[in-house]
Amino acid sequence: MFNSNCHTHTVFCDGNNTAEEMVQSAVSLGFKSLGFSVHSPMNIENSYAIKPNLVEEYINTILSLKEKYKDKIEIYNGIELDSNWDFVDLSKFDYIIGSVHHLHCPGRIYAVDKSIEETEECVNKEFDGDWLSYAKCYYSELCRFLCGLKPDVIGHFDLIEKYNNKGKLFDSTIPEYQLLVKVYLDRICDCCPDSIFEVNTGAMFRLGNDVPYPAQFILKHLKQRNMKITISSDAHSTDALDFEFERVQALCKNCCFDEAYMLKGGKFEAVKI
Ligand SMILES: [Zn+2]
Ligand SMILES: [Zn+2]
Repeated sequence: MFNSNCHTHTVFCDGNNTAEEMVQSAVSLGFKSLGFSVHSPMNIENSYAIKPNLVEEYINTILSLKEKYKDKIEIYNGIELDSNWDFVDLSKFDYIIGSVHHLHCPGRIYAVDKSIEETEECVNKEFDGDWLSYAKCYYSELCRFLCGLKPDVIGHFDLIEKYNNKGKLFDSTIPEYQLLVKVYLDRICDCCPDSIFEVNTGAMFRLGNDVPYPAQFILKHLKQRNMKITISSDAHSTDALDFEFERVQALCKNCCFDEAYMLKGGKFEAVKI
């Protein structure tokens, strides 16, 4: 099984466990490596990002765990950089995950993944209930941010599907939606050919969703584009560290991926899945 995870959170941001508790769980699961991806400081109001004055302590904590557990597991200090990130010295981190969690509308900023109510309010008030326009706004912001950043990893590509399990908010199987996604996906693949797309089980763990991000049609398109993938769980607690990895690995194989990238020897390396 895929025995690594580059997308994890701790009490330094909105996670429930300490970094050391996460390391110990990863070791007991037989992980070869573990990456921490603290939510970057933000320049907008939020309840989950690391406070700027804690960034140095975060880095030092991860570095000391790297040393303490070096005979058992490889540890990496990464960062999940939000499109509204506040200044932080990116050279201090082993890798960067690029993510969009908010949409800027005239007069108000909406979280994409905070609650179903906030999502529906945004679609209804700002886009006259038109999910396609909402989706276009999200993907264009994602494209703008990623093409400027060219991150090592692209976080939860279709986050707008979070509350859409079984299509309960909008129909993501219609050609209009899938075509729109592929237009932006192609632009991102062109701009960021070396970035790794994560197959992220976070909403399967938190909300019981049936499928990971991104949706299967996106995974198939990524394979056609010859892009790289990794498997992660966006873990906010020790019990989510390898959540549904086996099932998702099978799903990736179904989409014709025979390798995924994991943190190994100081960088992301391809391993057979
Ligand atoms: Zn995220
Ligand atoms: Zn995350």
